Amino acid sequence: MFKDIAFVDLAAQRERLGSRMQVAIQRVLDHGEFIMGPEVAQLEERLQSFCGARHAVTCSSGTDALYLALRALEIGRGDAVFVPSFTFSATGEAVVLAGATPIFVDVHADTFNIDCDSLNAAIKETISANRLTPRAIMSVDMFGQPADYTLIRQVATVHNLHLIADAAQSFGATWNGENVGTLGDVTTTSFYPAKPLGCYGDGGAVLTNDDSTADALRSLRVHGMGVDKFDNVTVGINGRLDTLQASILLEKLAIFEDELKLRDQVANSYSEQLEQIVECPQLAARATSSWAQYTVKVPNRDQLQESLRDLGIPTAVFYRKPMHLQGAYASYPQAPTDLVNSENLPDSVLSLPMHPYMDQEQQERIINAVKACTA
Ligand SMILES: *Cc1c(COP(=O)(O)O)cnc(C)c1O
Repeated sequence: MFKDIAFVDLAAQRERLGSRMQVAIQRVLDHGEFIMGPEVAQLEERLQSFCGARHAVTCSSGTDALYLALRALEIGRGDAVFVPSFTFSATGEAVVLAGATPIFVDVHADTFNIDCDSLNAAIKETISANRLTPRAIMSVDMFGQPADYTLIRQVATVHNLHLIADAAQSFGATWNGENVGTLGDVTTTSFYPAKPLGCYGDGGAVLTNDDSTADALRSLRVHGMGVDKFDNVTVGINGRLDTLQASILLEKLAIFEDELKLRDQVANSYSEQLEQIVECPQLAARATSSWAQYTVKVPNRDQLQESLRDLGIPTAVFYRKPMHLQGAYASYPQAPTDLVNSENLPDSVLSLPMHPYMDQEQQERIINAVKACTA
């Protein structure tokens, strides 16, 4: 019969990589440098050349990447960081862990990315309240599409704010022909297994063109080290990427460009065939996406998800609650205007299976199921 449909098919990728992966892992087992072994430096070089950033500093997760970025920019107590509310909680979490205050801002309903009108209103209010110092905008490239960096950059420049790009979902994408990794002053990404470029555990990276920020990141990820980890010049964390994960990522990065093309094909064929049926994701003219998720909007989402589940089609809801309504974050400030889109999107979003190895037969089954369930 038919092969089960996977939401993300890591097994198909494993099959493609074949024995190369075992060889890469075996090489690390043989040389035994499990912490900061040669593959870590090699991966950092490859990541730099892939996206054109001067520095890639790998680390233990996408969440730690955000925390390290904030610390490297010396953002902390008394500082305000503007964060879109419709995101994975790690974005705002890192701000709180760094000691700063997240201020939640609304997103656009069509791109799921930060709304600069809401952002501007939040910045103005923060300035006039004169309690916190506005320091940074933390944009998120939701589901793989870069936020509008042309506009966000303007806002950051006017208010002299750092621009931190949370590209956990969008590594490999572009805005205006420029690669994710060069769009923010500092860009963070995640190698969580289900992300477009994932390892076999937790991992992340911070990308920047700024030499002194890169130096600070390298120190902070190893206990705030000076000449070595027994010389502590600042309070840091144990935030290194394992050598084993670096070796795995080197193999995956070698096929990543091709996987991005395959993701694009899957997304295009979804859009062509579902356009009349559900609200399909909208790409801005200047954007390409890494398609971390293919997220549609439907009025009767829960019903559709259940009917699809009955037909063996796995789907997911990202996210069921915006950050400003989460118990842990409800007491932090938010933009003065209502965060309408962040509050409404959770009722209608549904992410369909998305990975580079979906064959036509599988995709037809998904598309037909969506058509049948919405008829
Ligand atoms: C996945 C994700 C993170 C966190 O990455 P981890 O590697 O899981 O820590 C942060 N921000 C966004 C938007 C994410 O999707």
